[in-house]
Amino acid sequence: MRENRETVMSIRNNLQEVLSTLPEGVRLVAVSKFHPVEALQEAYDAGQRIFGESKVQELSQKEAVMPKDVEWHFIGHLQTNKVKYIAPYVTLIHGVDSFRLLQEIDRQGKRVGRVIPCLLQMHIAQEDTKFGFAFDECREMLANCEWKELTHVALVGLMGMASNTDDEELVKTEFARLHQFFIEVKHDFFIEDEDFKELSMGMSDDYPLAVAEGSTLVRVGSRIFGIRNY
Ligand SMILES: *Cc1c(COP(=O)(O)O)cnc(C)c1O
Repeated sequence: MRENRETVMSIRNNLQEVLSTLPEGVRLVAVSKFHPVEALQEAYDAGQRIFGESKVQELSQKEAVMPKDVEWHFIGHLQTNKVKYIAPYVTLIHGVDSFRLLQEIDRQGKRVGRVIPCLLQMHIAQEDTKFGFAFDECREMLANCEWKELTHVALVGLMGMASNTDDEELVKTEFARLHQFFIEVKHDFFIEDEDFKELSMGMSDDYPLAVAEGSTLVRVGSRIFGIRNY
């Protein structure tokens, strides 16, 4: 698969291949981190409009030169002191993993006159290296209603990363647990909020499993743009 993809396929073909497998209602975030703007432009010319980046500086540089109708999703770990740089244009922040970060996004949203859509990142993997709320921690934050006073952020769903493993059963279980948690949180806190509807899960190696478990946003990088040179 990998060889085939890298030798004969272009970004346009890769994109079409991924898109052809996504059911209606599942959107693709093309994760373009570490790839040059030429690669993003190729995807853009093929019709892709949602791009995911994980570094603030890199995102800012690309935003400045890419067409204005691109939707920029921030998918990495966001430091509070960098929110201000992306607040004017970011379309969705996937990785909100603390109330403090949410407060800062609210503050910056207010400053630039925007309501910034955010996903709460949940820790679902076995590894302890990945960021995110534990389920209980998230319930606790939502039960304490302080977040409702934040007028310049909109919580629109949840995000998670499964374990990096070949064990498909484990990955499936992790995605299923996140979906279950989404249903619980939707019911308990967002039942009347139509905007709370996104479940961001699935990357190059596991997005078909994520889609099967209810993902609405898949974040696919290397399968579209090739391997990254960090
Ligand atoms: C890099 C990254 C991806 C994309 O990873 P691929 O394996 O290249 O598809 C998705 N989500 C997050 C949070 C990432 O950091």
